[in-house]
Amino acid sequence: MPELPEVETIARSLRPALEGRGVVSLEVRHAGAVRGGLDADMLLRSLPGRSLLAVRRRAKLMLLECSGDLILAFHLKMTGRLHLPAPEEAPDKHTHLIFHLDDGTRLFFMDVRKFGYCAAFTEAQLQAFPFYASLGPEPLDTAPEALARRLDGRRGRIKALLLDQTVLAGVGNIYADEALFRAGLRPDAPAQALSAPQKLRLMTQVREVLQEGIDCCGASIRNYVNARGDAGAFQNTFNVYGRAGQPCPRCAAPLVKVTVAGRTSTFCQECQQGGGGGAGGGGMAPG
Ligand SMILES: [Zn+2]
Repeated sequence: MPELPEVETIARSLRPALEGRGVVSLEVRHAGAVRGGLDADMLLRSLPGRSLLAVRRRAKLMLLECSGDLILAFHLKMTGRLHLPAPEEAPDKHTHLIFHLDDGTRLFFMDVRKFGYCAAFTEAQLQAFPFYASLGPEPLDTAPEALARRLDGRRGRIKALLLDQTVLAGVGNIYADEALFRAGLRPDAPAQALSAPQKLRLMTQVREVLQEGIDCCGASIRNYVNARGDAGAFQNTFNVYGRAGQPCPRCAAPLVKVTVAGRTSTFCQECQQGGGGGAGGGGMAPG
């Protein structure tokens, strides 16, 4: 699933092509791709003639702000893509929505597995959309001290809290594993076992790893590319994510896997002892 850096990279690649353009028409090839405030029929009627004012990102959501108080919120989920095709490129069977713009540009919303969606809202509806309303702060716009305080009094494994979009927004499996490695914390450490300096170090690393991900234009695993089809490069700098059984880049011990919050987590038992072991972490079964 694209995480904050990947969605941010897509937003940056969309902005110059979309902002200021008018929507001429919309083709809905799979009505299930449209959810939320307006159904596909209503969107078909109401979108043409509007201008695209701004491309924004909130957490892992891509927001296209249209004139006349309409916001299109795209969640790409596992395999969704927002794609600016070349002029001669034909839509394939996974292209569910096609936006035709006034300069001839087309925007494809594509999704092989169909978990992603485009939801149309007024600003007030968006603010009231339960998923949107529950989102925690943007990590890159929030001081690490304030992010660390979000963990105070929370129960649960630290990685589960990093993945919880109500605690902080935009972090998924990749950036959680990488931040925990850099902070020297076990993914299955109970949050209550972490000291204030450990929480602060973790949130500092979360911010750094997300920023590095953006600087690398995201991590291209599975099918992630930006709207122009360009791959990111952050996957080339992974320390632990997806590297179980390979040597730790810091100490060379084999990296191990543990399941936290239903997600595979890879970590180094030597370098990531914070919050676990003697502190009463318990319950971990490497391998
Ligand atoms: Zn190590």
